[in-house]
This record gives sequence, C-alpha cells and structure tokens, in this order.
Amino acid sequence: MAAMENHIQKILFTEEQISQRVSELASQITLNFSSSTNNGGAPLLSSSSAPVVVGVATGAFLFLADLVRKINLPISVDFVRVESYGSGTVSSGKPKISCDLKIDVTGKHVILVEDIVDTGNTLACLFEHLISKGASSISVCTLFDKPSKRKVNVELVGEGKFYRGFECPDYFVVGYGLDFAEVYRNLPYVGILKPEMYS
Ligand code: 5GP
Ligand code: MG
Ligand code: MG
Repeated sequence: MAAMENHIQKILFTEEQISQRVSELASQITLNFSSSTNNGGAPLLSSSSAPVVVGVATGAFLFLADLVRKINLPISVDFVRVESYGSGTVSSGKPKISCDLKIDVTGKHVILVEDIVDTGNTLACLFEHLISKGASSISVCTLFDKPSKRKVNVELVGEGKFYRGFECPDYFVVGYGLDFAEVYRNLPYVGILKPEMYS
C-alpha cells in the first residue's frame, strides 16, 4: 500500500472505525426490519417481505459488500448506476440513471445504499425513480453524509429511515469505494488527497 499512501494527505476515517460503524448500521437495519414484522414471536420476516438492498454503483460497492454480510435478514441485492460527477470534484447537479435495477421492486421495501450524500440530487433522482416503480418504502443507508452541502431535503422523502454512518467534513474524500477520476476506490480507509494529485 506504500505507493498509494503517498498520494494521501490525511486519513479521516480508518479501516477499524469504518468496520465498527458498518456493524452498527447493519444491526440497526436488522432490528428495524425484524421488529416491524415480528410481533410477539410471530414468524420471522419472509424473503418476500424482506427488503431489497440497492447499491448505488460504483461508489457503494465496498460498503454494500461489508454491510450486507452483517445484515441478518433474507434480503436481495441489486445495483443501480447514477452518473452525476464525471471525473471532477464538483457535482453536475443533474444526475442520470445510466443502469437500472434488475429486480422488480413493486410493493417492496427498498434500502438505498450510498457511499456519500452531498447535495442530495442523486438520492432525489433515485427516490423519484423508485416511487414510479412502486416501491412500498424507501430507506437510505449512507456511510457518509455532508449535510452542509445539502440542496434537497432527502431525509424526509422516502417514508423509510435514514441511516447515516458518519458526518463527513466538507472535503472531497477518497477511498473505501469513493473515487477521484475512478482511482483510489480500493483504499481500505477514507482520506483526502494531496493537492498535487488533482493536477
Ligand atoms: P449528490 O448527488 O448528493 O450531490 O452526490 C452524491 C454523489 O457524489 C455520491 O454518491 C458520490 O459519488 C459523489 N460525491 C459526493 N461527495 C464526494 C466526495 O467527497 N468524494 C467522492 N469521491 N465522491 C463524492
Ligand atoms: Mg454514490
Ligand atoms: Mg465518483
């Protein structure tokens, strides 16, 4: 890892911190979806009423992989791809769904898994899309949140819960799925690049 470490100015979230928080989020999800359908010893959540966990590609791939292994429910997993950033560090503000779900989410509880919520434009676009497909509720599980950059109030839209791993300071961060120009996704931690890496 020495070569890539030289590109990093500062680590903001370590592998251990991330792993601990991912476990906590998975426990909350497991608990919330078990208790809402499991009154007083009734049969456990069936696979038809279990949530569909939808990762927003590519950034959520590592978070989703770690999260779902710790969710103790008969979930299904799918991906959706949304383009908004291109290769820069400032959102274009007009996200587009460039690869749709394979699973039919009509009447299903959906949990959208995101790497980071910034302006909220990506989530707003996905909410609209999933509602039009007839999802019965939409929750969000994002590892990072930059509330200072929010333009759309996405916490209130989905009729589900909003799970948040960490509040992220207002820097452009890379690692654990998050890229700069498609690079650095494979870093096991999250940090800030040295300024010279942008040129
Ligand atoms: P939003 O649509 O909420 O403005 O942005 C959401 C998407 O922008 C995220 O899913 C992520 O792909 C990208 N993004 C936002 N902030 C950052 C950041 O600090 N680092 C990286 N690598 N991507 C970011
Ligand atoms: Mg993303
Ligand atoms: Mg990106």
